[in-house]
Amino acid sequence: MAYEALYTRGRPKTLSQLVGQEHISNALARAISSGRLSHAYLLVGTRGTGKTSTARLLSKAMNCDAVHEAQNSGRELDKREIPCNKCDACRNFDSSPDNVEFDAASNRSVEDVTRLLSTAYLAPLRARVKTFIIDEVHMLSFEAVNSILKLIEEPPPNVAFFLATTEINKVPMTIRSRCQVLNFRLIPQQTIAPYLLKLARRLNVALHEDAAKKIARLAEGSMRDALTYLDQCYAMADKEISLDDVNETLGLISDESLDEIIAAIMARDRSAVASAVTAAFQSGLAANAIAEALITRLRDREFELLARGEKNFAELDRIIDAVRKSTGEMYGSGIPDIILEMTLMKLVAPIPTLTLPPTTQAAPTPQPTVNLDAAKKIFYDTASHLGETDASFNTIPNKAVVTNFSGDTLTLTFKSDAMAGLFQKNLSKFEQAATQVAGRAIKFSVVVDKNMPAPVLQNLSESARNNLAGAMDIFHANDADKIND
Ligand SMILES: [Zn+2]
Repeated sequence: MAYEALYTRGRPKTLSQLVGQEHISNALARAISSGRLSHAYLLVGTRGTGKTSTARLLSKAMNCDAVHEAQNSGRELDKREIPCNKCDACRNFDSSPDNVEFDAASNRSVEDVTRLLSTAYLAPLRARVKTFIIDEVHMLSFEAVNSILKLIEEPPPNVAFFLATTEINKVPMTIRSRCQVLNFRLIPQQTIAPYLLKLARRLNVALHEDAAKKIARLAEGSMRDALTYLDQCYAMADKEISLDDVNETLGLISDESLDEIIAAIMARDRSAVASAVTAAFQSGLAANAIAEALITRLRDREFELLARGEKNFAELDRIIDAVRKSTGEMYGSGIPDIILEMTLMKLVAPIPTLTLPPTTQAAPTPQPTVNLDAAKKIFYDTASHLGETDASFNTIPNKAVVTNFSGDTLTLTFKSDAMAGLFQKNLSKFEQAATQVAGRAIKFSVVVDKNMPAPVLQNLSESARNNLAGAMDIFHANDADKIND
């Protein structure tokens, strides 16, 4: 038998199986029992929260013989009986010509949509009620919206519309005001995880509880996403799905790796931070993915602490703020890995105070009035711009420090003669690119200072640079040695 995706198999068959939307299923069950169904529903909510499933259940229920019998005899229906799934109408529903479904986001032509909608004026072939389920209704053309509007205002007998949308703001008010609106909520993790565990038991797969929780968290309120993730893990697993399997299959960094980074920062242990970050990069993950995972993990830790009655989150907040800020800097940058590394190293630095001694005696002191951050941005952007055609340029910011920016001349201090020489060889290329990046003429001046700390540490903000002046021998010591001639 062909493999059927969990999303299809996990689809609710009755209103009672509609997960996480009890406010909707309860209201609909009452409306069905008392025969007070509307002929037009607008189902609003994020993807994967059950809008189409609900529309199908309602379409089916409107035609279900058992539901009709109960309505006629005045018997209140249980959510588990809506629809019955046993009568002829229910069993033939999937192939019924009287249930029309289409996705307005797919590239259907206007004529196509109009033709489909025009069939609303024809009596149902077999069913009691002809139903139209239109996904992403906000994507419909103006003409199609008008046809729908006419149909809703003066509905032909025995027709019902289910309009689903993820973007209610884009649905015209004229449509909104004529439909019964059903608002679908994001499904909480605490609801998704047990559902996944139940589904896995049915599939005879040993899904570990922490694995289910991780998938539930990743799904961010969407049952469809949760089932898709579980499906991916299920395809790779052999009757058992552990947290490691989830991380590996979905390309995620493990909580242990994230905890190692956090612990190293909190212990102010530079070398531990460096090795934890290197290990994270070695897993092949992109810097922004690591940063996002780190933020999520830190937030989880705060919730754990909160549950234990802790009130002081200053340290965790400090890390979250810094990492969140770094994600903004990474965006569009050619050196995201270095930005993340620097951010985390900066967090290890002692808390800055006003009485810090100056850096090593020989290092040129930047003028306080000079906007070094702007200069650094030009320098990084230039390197990453050139790095697009020659990757070796990407490493230049590891080898030199921006020490001054006066007029249009940007001073770079190298730790090694060799690297300074190499840069000089490419000077015109650099100046051209920098001029393009900055939008005005930029010149570079090159200085060598063998006593200065490793550039990779120095390319931080000024206060962090002062704090980290003594750290050169720990972080990226190998890198620094290589460029020392
Ligand atoms: Zn039925």
